[in-house]
Amino acid sequence: MPGFEIFGEEEKKHLNEVLDTGILMRYNFDGLRNQHWKAAEFEKAIADKIKSQYVHLVSSGTTALITAIKSLNIGAGDEIIMPSFTFVASFEAVLFTGAIPILVDIDDTLTMDPNEVEKAITPRTKAIMPVHMCGAMADMHAILTIAQKHQLYVLEDACQAIGAKIGNEYLGTMGTIGCFSFDFVKTITCGEGGAILTNQEDLYEFCHQYSDHGHDHIGKDRGAEKHPVTGLNFRISELHAAVGLGQWEKLDQILSKQREIKSALKNKLMHHQDIQFRRIIDENGDNASFLTLFFNSEEIAKKVSSELKQNGIASAYWFDNNWHYIRQWNHFFDVKNDTTLYKEQRNLLPDYANQDFSKSDEILKRTITLPLSLNLDEQKIEFIANSILDSIANLQSQSV
Ligand SMILES: *Cc1c(COP(=O)(O)O)cnc(C)c1O
Repeated sequence: MPGFEIFGEEEKKHLNEVLDTGILMRYNFDGLRNQHWKAAEFEKAIADKIKSQYVHLVSSGTTALITAIKSLNIGAGDEIIMPSFTFVASFEAVLFTGAIPILVDIDDTLTMDPNEVEKAITPRTKAIMPVHMCGAMADMHAILTIAQKHQLYVLEDACQAIGAKIGNEYLGTMGTIGCFSFDFVKTITCGEGGAILTNQEDLYEFCHQYSDHGHDHIGKDRGAEKHPVTGLNFRISELHAAVGLGQWEKLDQILSKQREIKSALKNKLMHHQDIQFRRIIDENGDNASFLTLFFNSEEIAKKVSSELKQNGIASAYWFDNNWHYIRQWNHFFDVKNDTTLYKEQRNLLPDYANQDFSKSDEILKRTITLPLSLNLDEQKIEFIANSILDSIANLQSQSV
Protein backbone atom coordinates (compact mmCIF):
# COMPACT_ATOMS: atom_id res chain seq x y z
CA MET A 1 0.00 0.00 0.00
CA PRO A 2 2.05 2.93 1.17
CA GLY A 3 5.20 4.42 -0.25
CA PHE A 4 6.87 4.38 3.17
CA GLU A 5 7.52 0.70 2.64
CA ILE A 6 10.06 1.45 -0.05
CA PHE A 7 12.11 4.35 1.22
CA GLY A 8 15.56 4.22 -0.30
CA GLU A 9 18.41 6.10 -1.89
CA GLU A 10 16.14 8.30 -4.02
CA GLU A 11 14.63 10.07 -1.01
CA LYS A 12 18.02 10.36 0.70
CA LYS A 13 19.63 11.92 -2.34
CA HIS A 14 17.11 14.76 -2.57
CA LEU A 15 17.02 15.20 1.19
CA ASN A 16 20.79 15.47 1.46
CA GLU A 17 20.91 18.05 -1.30
CA VAL A 18 18.61 20.20 0.79
CA LEU A 19 20.50 19.58 4.02
CA ASP A 20 23.80 20.39 2.34
CA THR A 21 22.60 23.91 1.60
CA GLY A 22 20.53 24.26 4.80
CA ILE A 23 17.78 26.11 2.93
CA LEU A 24 14.62 24.42 4.15
CA MET A 25 12.29 27.09 2.79
CA ARG A 26 10.70 26.65 -0.62
CA TYR A 27 10.80 30.35 -1.52
CA ASN A 28 13.67 32.81 -1.94
CA PHE A 29 17.27 32.51 -0.63
CA ASP A 30 18.26 32.13 -4.29
CA GLY A 31 21.98 32.66 -3.73
CA LEU A 32 22.32 30.11 -0.96
CA ARG A 33 20.34 27.17 -2.26
CA ASN A 34 22.72 25.85 -4.89
CA GLN A 35 19.87 25.71 -7.45
CA HIS A 36 17.83 23.26 -5.37
CA TRP A 37 14.12 23.97 -5.56
CA LYS A 38 12.63 20.68 -4.38
CA ALA A 39 9.03 21.87 -3.96
CA ALA A 40 9.02 23.44 -7.41
CA GLU A 41 10.63 20.33 -8.93
CA PHE A 42 8.13 18.04 -7.22
CA GLU A 43 5.27 20.19 -8.52
CA LYS A 44 6.63 19.96 -12.04
CA ALA A 45 7.10 16.20 -11.76
CA ILE A 46 3.49 15.76 -10.63
CA ALA A 47 2.15 18.09 -13.32
CA ASP A 48 4.08 16.30 -16.09
CA LYS A 49 2.98 12.87 -14.95
CA ILE A 50 -0.71 13.44 -14.38
CA LYS A 51 -1.10 16.11 -17.05
CA SER A 52 -2.40 18.81 -14.78
CA GLN A 53 -1.59 22.28 -15.99
CA TYR A 54 -0.93 23.57 -12.47
CA VAL A 55 0.13 21.83 -9.28
CA HIS A 56 0.71 23.52 -5.95
CA LEU A 57 2.13 21.72 -2.91
CA VAL A 58 0.96 22.43 0.63
CA SER A 59 1.49 21.05 4.12
CA SER A 60 -1.21 18.32 4.03
CA GLY A 61 -4.18 16.89 2.18
CA THR A 62 -6.40 18.71 4.66
CA THR A 63 -4.86 22.11 3.94
CA ALA A 64 -5.01 21.30 0.21
CA LEU A 65 -8.77 20.81 0.53
CA ILE A 66 -9.24 24.00 2.54
CA THR A 67 -7.17 25.99 0.02
CA ALA A 68 -9.05 24.47 -2.92
CA ILE A 69 -12.44 25.34 -1.38
CA LYS A 70 -11.30 28.92 -0.71
CA SER A 71 -10.00 29.23 -4.26
CA LEU A 72 -13.51 28.50 -5.55
CA ASN A 73 -14.74 31.39 -3.44
CA ILE A 74 -16.87 29.01 -1.41
CA GLY A 75 -17.53 29.76 2.25
CA ALA A 76 -20.22 31.18 4.52
CA GLY A 77 -23.46 29.30 4.07
CA ASP A 78 -22.52 27.58 0.81
CA GLU A 79 -23.20 23.86 0.54
CA ILE A 80 -20.75 21.23 -0.63
CA ILE A 81 -22.09 17.75 -1.33
CA MET A 82 -19.83 14.93 -0.15
CA PRO A 83 -20.15 11.21 0.57
CA SER A 84 -21.04 9.64 3.94
CA PHE A 85 -17.97 7.41 3.59
CA THR A 86 -14.69 9.35 3.44
CA PHE A 87 -11.98 10.43 5.86
CA VAL A 88 -12.99 13.03 8.48
CA ALA A 89 -10.65 15.56 6.85
CA SER A 90 -13.06 16.10 3.93
CA PHE A 91 -15.78 17.12 6.39
CA GLU A 92 -13.42 19.18 8.56
CA ALA A 93 -12.13 21.14 5.59
CA VAL A 94 -15.61 22.14 4.45
CA LEU A 95 -16.69 23.09 7.96
CA PHE A 96 -13.52 25.15 8.49
CA THR A 97 -14.27 27.40 5.51
CA GLY A 98 -17.70 28.25 6.89
CA ALA A 99 -19.43 26.12 4.28
CA ILE A 100 -21.96 23.38 5.01
CA PRO A 101 -21.06 19.72 4.43
CA ILE A 102 -24.04 17.90 2.91
CA LEU A 103 -23.55 14.16 3.17
CA VAL A 104 -25.07 11.70 0.72
CA ASP A 105 -25.17 7.92 0.51
CA ILE A 106 -22.60 5.84 -1.30
CA ASP A 107 -23.26 3.01 -3.75
CA ASP A 108 -21.38 -0.18 -4.60
CA THR A 109 -18.46 1.86 -5.96
CA LEU A 110 -17.88 2.83 -2.28
CA THR A 111 -18.08 6.43 -3.43
CA MET A 112 -20.94 8.93 -3.73
CA ASP A 113 -24.07 7.72 -5.50
CA PRO A 114 -24.66 10.20 -8.36
CA ASN A 115 -28.45 9.86 -7.97
CA GLU A 116 -28.19 10.91 -4.34
CA VAL A 117 -26.00 13.83 -5.34
CA GLU A 118 -28.62 15.15 -7.71
CA LYS A 119 -31.34 14.84 -5.05
CA ALA A 120 -29.23 16.80 -2.56
CA ILE A 121 -28.75 19.89 -4.74
CA THR A 122 -30.32 23.10 -3.36
CA PRO A 123 -29.99 26.78 -4.29
CA ARG A 124 -27.11 26.95 -1.78
CA THR A 125 -25.09 24.16 -3.43
CA LYS A 126 -21.78 25.38 -4.86
CA ALA A 127 -19.72 22.24 -5.34
CA ILE A 128 -19.76 18.47 -5.47
CA MET A 129 -16.87 16.79 -3.71
CA PRO A 130 -16.40 13.18 -4.84
CA VAL A 131 -13.94 11.27 -2.67
CA HIS A 132 -12.05 8.54 -4.52
CA MET A 133 -11.90 6.10 -1.63
CA CYS A 134 -9.44 3.26 -1.20
CA GLY A 135 -7.57 3.75 -4.44
CA ALA A 136 -10.48 3.80 -6.87
CA MET A 137 -12.86 6.17 -8.49
CA ALA A 138 -16.19 7.82 -8.06
CA ASP A 139 -18.31 7.81 -11.22
CA MET A 140 -16.75 11.02 -12.51
CA HIS A 141 -18.60 11.08 -15.82
CA ALA A 142 -21.97 10.97 -14.05
CA ILE A 143 -20.84 13.56 -11.50
CA LEU A 144 -19.42 15.91 -14.12
CA THR A 145 -22.68 15.70 -16.09
CA ILE A 146 -24.70 16.64 -13.00
CA ALA A 147 -22.26 19.45 -12.18
CA GLN A 148 -22.51 20.86 -15.67
CA LYS A 149 -26.30 20.71 -15.66
CA HIS A 150 -26.52 22.59 -12.35
CA GLN A 151 -23.43 24.79 -12.88
CA LEU A 152 -21.53 23.46 -9.88
CA TYR A 153 -17.82 23.08 -9.25
CA VAL A 154 -16.33 19.63 -8.82
CA LEU A 155 -13.66 19.33 -6.14
CA GLU A 156 -12.02 15.91 -6.27
CA ASP A 157 -10.65 14.51 -3.04
CA ALA A 158 -8.14 12.14 -4.60
CA CYS A 159 -6.05 11.88 -1.43
CA GLN A 160 -6.34 8.08 -1.44
CA ALA A 161 -6.15 7.57 -5.17
CA ILE A 162 -2.80 8.92 -6.36
CA GLY A 163 -2.02 7.52 -9.80
CA ALA A 164 -5.54 6.15 -10.39
CA LYS A 165 -7.19 6.96 -13.71
CA ILE A 166 -10.41 6.79 -15.67
CA GLY A 167 -9.37 6.05 -19.24
CA ASN A 168 -6.40 8.33 -19.82
CA GLU A 169 -7.34 10.90 -17.23
CA TYR A 170 -5.83 10.87 -13.75
CA LEU A 171 -8.15 11.24 -10.77
CA GLY A 172 -7.76 14.70 -9.34
CA THR A 173 -7.52 16.28 -12.80
CA MET A 174 -11.04 15.63 -14.08
CA GLY A 175 -12.98 18.16 -11.99
CA THR A 176 -12.49 21.89 -11.47
CA ILE A 177 -9.80 21.28 -8.89
CA GLY A 178 -8.39 18.22 -7.09
CA CYS A 179 -6.32 17.29 -4.06
CA PHE A 180 -3.72 14.69 -3.12
CA SER A 181 -2.39 13.82 0.33
CA PHE A 182 1.17 12.66 0.96
CA ASP A 183 0.67 11.81 4.62
CA PHE A 184 2.49 8.84 6.03
CA VAL A 185 0.11 6.10 4.90
CA LYS A 186 -0.70 7.32 1.42
CA THR A 187 0.50 5.83 -1.88
CA ILE A 188 3.24 8.46 -2.03
CA THR A 189 4.39 9.98 1.22
CA CYS A 190 6.64 12.78 2.31
CA GLY A 191 5.80 12.54 6.01
CA GLU A 192 3.18 15.24 5.75
CA GLY A 193 2.18 17.02 2.57
CA GLY A 194 -0.52 17.61 0.02
CA ALA A 195 -1.05 18.91 -3.50
CA ILE A 196 -3.68 20.95 -5.30
CA LEU A 197 -4.23 20.21 -8.99
CA THR A 198 -6.04 22.38 -11.50
CA ASN A 199 -6.04 23.47 -15.10
CA GLN A 200 -7.31 26.93 -14.23
CA GLU A 201 -4.66 29.60 -13.84
CA ASP A 202 -6.79 31.85 -11.61
CA LEU A 203 -7.38 29.02 -9.13
CA TYR A 204 -3.68 28.15 -9.08
CA GLU A 205 -2.74 31.80 -8.50
CA PHE A 206 -5.10 31.96 -5.55
CA CYS A 207 -3.80 28.68 -4.10
CA HIS A 208 -0.09 29.56 -4.02
CA GLN A 209 -0.92 32.95 -2.57
CA TYR A 210 -3.46 31.80 0.02
CA SER A 211 -1.23 29.04 1.36
CA ASP A 212 1.61 31.52 1.97
CA HIS A 213 -0.07 34.45 3.80
CA GLY A 214 -1.16 35.97 0.51
CA HIS A 215 2.34 36.49 -0.96
CA ASP A 216 2.20 37.15 -4.70
CA HIS A 217 5.57 35.41 -5.25
CA ILE A 218 6.72 38.03 -7.72
CA GLY A 219 10.35 39.14 -7.62
CA LYS A 220 13.19 38.02 -5.40
CA ASP A 221 12.54 40.14 -2.31
CA ARG A 222 10.01 38.42 -0.08
CA GLY A 223 9.53 41.47 2.10
CA ALA A 224 8.64 43.64 -0.88
CA GLU A 225 6.00 41.29 -2.25
CA LYS A 226 2.36 42.36 -2.44
CA HIS A 227 -0.48 40.40 -0.81
CA PRO A 228 -3.42 40.16 -3.18
CA VAL A 229 -5.40 37.82 -0.87
CA THR A 230 -5.74 37.15 2.84
CA GLY A 231 -4.17 33.81 3.57
CA LEU A 232 -2.55 31.49 6.07
CA ASN A 233 0.64 29.47 6.25
CA PHE A 234 0.03 26.06 4.68
CA ARG A 235 3.50 25.86 3.11
CA ILE A 236 5.38 22.64 2.53
CA SER A 237 9.04 22.61 3.55
CA GLU A 238 11.90 21.70 1.23
CA LEU A 239 12.64 18.67 3.46
CA HIS A 240 9.18 17.24 2.91
CA ALA A 241 9.22 18.09 -0.77
CA ALA A 242 12.61 16.39 -1.18
CA VAL A 243 11.26 13.13 0.25
CA GLY A 244 8.15 13.44 -1.91
CA LEU A 245 10.20 13.97 -5.04
CA GLY A 246 12.19 10.81 -4.34
CA GLN A 247 8.95 8.90 -3.76
CA TRP A 248 7.25 10.28 -6.86
CA GLU A 249 9.98 8.82 -9.06
CA LYS A 250 8.81 5.39 -7.84
CA LEU A 251 5.09 5.88 -8.45
CA ASP A 252 4.86 3.57 -11.47
CA GLN A 253 6.84 0.93 -9.65
CA ILE A 254 4.50 1.14 -6.65
CA LEU A 255 1.39 1.02 -8.82
CA SER A 256 2.50 -1.98 -10.83
CA LYS A 257 3.48 -3.90 -7.70
CA GLN A 258 0.13 -3.11 -6.08
CA ARG A 259 -1.75 -4.18 -9.18
CA GLU A 260 0.15 -7.44 -9.31
CA ILE A 261 -0.56 -8.19 -5.61
CA LYS A 262 -4.20 -7.22 -5.91
CA SER A 263 -4.91 -9.43 -8.89
CA ALA A 264 -3.13 -12.39 -7.29
CA LEU A 265 -5.28 -12.08 -4.14
CA LYS A 266 -8.44 -11.36 -6.07
CA ASN A 267 -7.94 -14.43 -8.25
CA LYS A 268 -7.86 -16.64 -5.18
CA LEU A 269 -11.19 -15.26 -3.96
CA MET A 270 -12.93 -15.22 -7.32
CA HIS A 271 -16.03 -17.32 -7.95
CA HIS A 272 -16.83 -17.85 -4.28
CA GLN A 273 -20.59 -17.58 -3.83
CA ASP A 274 -20.34 -15.48 -0.66
CA ILE A 275 -17.80 -12.96 -1.95
CA GLN A 276 -18.33 -10.09 -4.34
CA PHE A 277 -16.01 -7.27 -5.21
CA ARG A 278 -16.40 -3.54 -5.10
CA ARG A 279 -17.62 -2.13 -8.43
CA ILE A 280 -14.72 -0.31 -10.04
CA ILE A 281 -15.65 2.08 -12.84
CA ASP A 282 -12.35 1.56 -14.67
CA GLU A 283 -10.55 -1.59 -13.46
CA ASN A 284 -7.40 -0.71 -15.40
CA GLY A 285 -7.19 2.65 -13.69
CA ASP A 286 -7.51 1.33 -10.12
CA ASN A 287 -4.44 2.34 -8.10
CA ALA A 288 -4.86 -1.04 -6.37
CA SER A 289 -3.69 -0.01 -2.92
CA PHE A 290 -6.69 -1.85 -1.40
CA LEU A 291 -8.89 -4.84 -2.09
CA THR A 292 -12.50 -4.42 -1.05
CA LEU A 293 -14.79 -7.39 -0.55
CA PHE A 294 -18.56 -7.47 -0.17
CA PHE A 295 -19.92 -10.50 1.65
CA ASN A 296 -23.45 -11.84 1.49
CA SER A 297 -24.24 -10.91 5.07
CA GLU A 298 -23.16 -8.71 7.94
CA GLU A 299 -22.52 -11.87 9.93
CA ILE A 300 -19.95 -13.16 7.44
CA ALA A 301 -18.23 -9.79 7.19
CA LYS A 302 -17.90 -9.51 10.96
CA LYS A 303 -16.65 -13.05 11.27
CA VAL A 304 -14.03 -12.60 8.53
CA SER A 305 -12.96 -9.28 10.02
CA SER A 306 -12.39 -10.77 13.49
CA GLU A 307 -10.55 -13.82 12.17
CA LEU A 308 -8.28 -11.68 10.01
CA LYS A 309 -7.45 -9.71 13.12
CA GLN A 310 -6.66 -12.90 15.05
CA ASN A 311 -4.36 -13.94 12.22
CA GLY A 312 -2.53 -10.64 12.33
CA ILE A 313 -3.82 -9.52 8.92
CA ALA A 314 -4.71 -5.83 8.53
CA SER A 315 -8.24 -5.08 7.36
CA ALA A 316 -10.94 -2.48 7.89
CA TYR A 317 -14.57 -3.16 8.75
CA TRP A 318 -15.85 0.30 7.80
CA PHE A 319 -19.27 0.03 9.41
CA ASP A 320 -17.70 0.34 12.87
CA ASN A 321 -14.77 2.52 11.84
CA ASN A 322 -14.19 5.69 13.87
CA TRP A 323 -12.56 7.74 11.13
CA HIS A 324 -14.16 6.99 7.82
CA TYR A 325 -17.88 6.55 8.23
CA ILE A 326 -20.43 8.98 9.59
CA ARG A 327 -21.96 6.41 11.96
CA GLN A 328 -19.11 6.88 14.44
CA TRP A 329 -18.65 10.61 13.93
CA ASN A 330 -20.21 11.58 17.27
CA HIS A 331 -18.06 14.67 17.49
CA PHE A 332 -19.69 15.99 14.32
CA PHE A 333 -23.20 15.10 15.47
CA ASP A 334 -22.67 17.73 18.12
CA VAL A 335 -21.15 20.38 15.90
CA LYS A 336 -24.40 22.36 15.82
CA ASN A 337 -23.68 23.17 19.47
CA ASP A 338 -20.12 24.35 18.87
CA THR A 339 -20.42 27.98 19.91
CA THR A 340 -17.09 28.89 18.31
CA LEU A 341 -18.91 28.62 14.98
CA TYR A 342 -21.14 31.41 13.77
CA LYS A 343 -24.77 30.99 14.71
CA GLU A 344 -25.74 31.22 11.05
CA GLN A 345 -23.47 28.30 10.16
CA ARG A 346 -24.73 26.22 13.07
CA ASN A 347 -28.33 26.86 12.05
CA LEU A 348 -27.67 25.72 8.51
CA LEU A 349 -25.92 22.47 9.48
CA PRO A 350 -28.12 19.41 8.98
CA ASP A 351 -28.99 17.14 11.91
CA TYR A 352 -26.39 14.55 10.89
CA ALA A 353 -27.18 12.19 13.78
CA ASN A 354 -30.74 11.67 12.58
CA GLN A 355 -30.19 11.63 8.85
CA ASP A 356 -31.04 8.41 7.06
CA PHE A 357 -27.92 6.68 5.72
CA SER A 358 -29.48 3.23 5.56
CA LYS A 359 -28.30 2.72 1.96
CA SER A 360 -24.69 3.27 3.01
CA ASP A 361 -25.26 1.14 6.11
CA GLU A 362 -26.50 -1.77 4.01
CA ILE A 363 -23.32 -1.69 1.91
CA LEU A 364 -20.78 -1.04 4.64
CA LYS A 365 -22.21 -3.69 6.99
CA ARG A 366 -21.10 -6.29 4.47
CA THR A 367 -17.82 -4.66 3.46
CA ILE A 368 -14.23 -5.36 4.37
CA THR A 369 -11.19 -3.64 2.88
CA LEU A 370 -7.69 -5.05 2.94
CA PRO A 371 -4.80 -2.61 2.59
CA LEU A 372 -2.25 -4.24 0.30
CA SER A 373 1.28 -4.05 1.61
CA LEU A 374 4.03 -3.90 -1.01
CA ASN A 375 5.70 -6.68 0.96
CA LEU A 376 3.06 -9.31 0.25
CA ASP A 377 4.68 -12.28 -1.44
CA GLU A 378 2.97 -15.35 -2.89
CA GLN A 379 2.99 -17.13 0.46
CA LYS A 380 1.46 -14.24 2.40
CA ILE A 381 -1.17 -13.74 -0.29
CA GLU A 382 -2.09 -17.42 0.01
CA PHE A 383 -2.32 -17.06 3.80
CA ILE A 384 -4.67 -14.06 3.55
CA ALA A 385 -6.91 -15.77 0.99
CA ASN A 386 -7.07 -18.94 3.07
CA SER A 387 -7.87 -16.99 6.24
CA ILE A 388 -10.85 -15.43 4.48
CA LEU A 389 -12.06 -18.64 2.86
CA ASP A 390 -11.58 -20.66 6.07
CA SER A 391 -13.50 -18.24 8.22
CA ILE A 392 -16.45 -18.33 5.82
CA ALA A 393 -16.31 -22.14 5.78
CA ASN A 394 -16.11 -22.29 9.59
CA LEU A 395 -19.11 -20.04 9.96
CA GLN A 396 -21.12 -22.16 7.57
CA SER A 397 -20.22 -25.42 9.31
CA GLN A 398 -21.25 -23.87 12.65
CA SER A 399 -24.63 -22.86 11.33
CA VAL A 400 -25.66 -26.30 10.00
C1 LIG B 1 -5.66 11.31 4.05
C2 LIG B 1 -6.90 11.93 3.55
C3 LIG B 1 -7.14 13.30 3.63
C4 LIG B 1 -6.27 14.26 4.40
O1 LIG B 1 -4.96 14.21 4.15
P1 LIG B 1 -3.86 14.61 5.26
O2 LIG B 1 -2.64 14.77 4.44
O3 LIG B 1 -3.75 13.48 6.22
O4 LIG B 1 -4.29 15.88 5.89
C5 LIG B 1 -8.29 13.81 3.06
N1 LIG B 1 -9.18 13.01 2.45
C6 LIG B 1 -9.01 11.67 2.37
C7 LIG B 1 -10.01 10.84 1.66
C8 LIG B 1 -7.87 11.09 2.94
O5 LIG B 1 -7.72 9.77 2.89
